[in-house]
Amino acid sequence: MLWAGLGVPDIRGTWGTFFYFGTDLTQWDVGDTEFGGKLVRLEMNGNAANAEVEGPVDPTAKSYKRISVPIQFRVNPEGTAVTINLGGHTETVAERHWSDWFRVKFRITPFLSVSAISRFYVLQATPDLRLYMSPLDLDPESPPLPISSPGDYTAELVHKHGLIKTLGWWHDTWALNEEKIDEGVFLEDAFRTMDKQAEITLDELKNDPPTLLVSVFLATDHVSHMFYRLIDPQHPRYDPVLAAKYGDAILQTYERMDGIVGEVVAAIKPGSTLLIVSDHGFHTWRKGFNTNTWLVQNGYMALKNPGAEDKTYSLENLFGQGSFFPNVDWNHTKAYALGLGQIYLNLRGREKSGILDPGPETDKVLEEIRQKLLAVRDPDTQQPVIQSVHLGHEIFHGPHMPDAPDLQVDFYDGYRTSWQTSLGAIPSGIVVANMKKWSGDHCASDPSDTQGIFFSNRVVSSTDPSILDIAPTVLKILGVATPGQLDGRALEFSNGQPRQ
Ligand SMILES: [Zn+2]
Repeated sequence: MLWAGLGVPDIRGTWGTFFYFGTDLTQWDVGDTEFGGKLVRLEMNGNAANAEVEGPVDPTAKSYKRISVPIQFRVNPEGTAVTINLGGHTETVAERHWSDWFRVKFRITPFLSVSAISRFYVLQATPDLRLYMSPLDLDPESPPLPISSPGDYTAELVHKHGLIKTLGWWHDTWALNEEKIDEGVFLEDAFRTMDKQAEITLDELKNDPPTLLVSVFLATDHVSHMFYRLIDPQHPRYDPVLAAKYGDAILQTYERMDGIVGEVVAAIKPGSTLLIVSDHGFHTWRKGFNTNTWLVQNGYMALKNPGAEDKTYSLENLFGQGSFFPNVDWNHTKAYALGLGQIYLNLRGREKSGILDPGPETDKVLEEIRQKLLAVRDPDTQQPVIQSVHLGHEIFHGPHMPDAPDLQVDFYDGYRTSWQTSLGAIPSGIVVANMKKWSGDHCASDPSDTQGIFFSNRVVSSTDPSILDIAPTVLKILGVATPGQLDGRALEFSNGQPRQ
């Protein structure tokens, strides 16, 4: 059985678009946030306000259009609670409280609709009416896409455990990052989600113990991303008041995780091997590096209109309806950056308007970029910013090499690719303060100082274990032959018997 995780989209086809409904928004605020939010302005009519929830793109429409359903909010006479009416379901929710799950149906044709689930948090009822609505998760009882195998496995889980999130990105980092919910609301949801995953994991272990069970928890990652600023007094978003209240959020998450591990240890069958693995460590992320701007300033990227101020990009205008790099003059551009630390050459045959051919001249360009990047200094401190730059063919191999990045940039502790560079933008400035609450990272750090953890209930005798070794190890324990293409090697255990 498999229940898909990271990568499962919401009903809008994104990694989780949250909604914020508020009378405090001006007409200029409404629309899409930089990362994953939809802001909807409310206007009160007496004690009620009507709005729309914008769902999936209409596959039957010729032009790009999303399907919406109406929603109504009504504040009670005391101004302490809000009655939410959505999709035929009504619930009255007190201020600073969560609603139950709502099921939302988006009608595509008279005969076909797709269903999602979401819940609300009433941030404020009066004087401003402000509500957070969680991303529209695919309905686990009737997902419009296959998200489990067998297909009814998520429905079976709902039957046993109640409605469950299906969005692969479990915790609403985007709503906190865009400052539409506070730390307390984020943690409440994160811990509840974590507990639900623990409940399901333990139930699977106890009631129908499988030969192999893999359970992934995301809270240690997501909470570290969001709360690193509160354990780093040098972070631009360090806040002593918030640090006093939430400075132990990462520790609390690890303690909770530790408690779950304890329950798993008690639940597994005698003789079972337990492997606890994380795929990376963490760093503070104080400053962003505008890689594309650096490429422009160093002559590797050309602009059609060099004087034009680049607009602020959002996920929605890139992946929804926008285009990448509208101001780039591809006929004179040698390299571009996209994602977190990746630089690609503008290669003929691979890129639409490629100008470089593979060969010694192009290799020289790569080496030149690498050397210049390693020499970059933070203008405030004169510290080096980039720890290592790897050539793609040094670190990647396999059948997808032609699409692999040509350079991978790894930053020193405190630095990462900027938010806007990750979306392909070219803003002004090279090294810029990270003013977001997403303040810890690992995505463009050198793996040598960003190691994850590895625990086992058996003594591991292999030295220097790597995450690449986990799959071969599991296959060996199960007595399954390793497929030829797999990286890594099976770990050796020095004693046969797992410790209980
Ligand atoms: Zn992460």
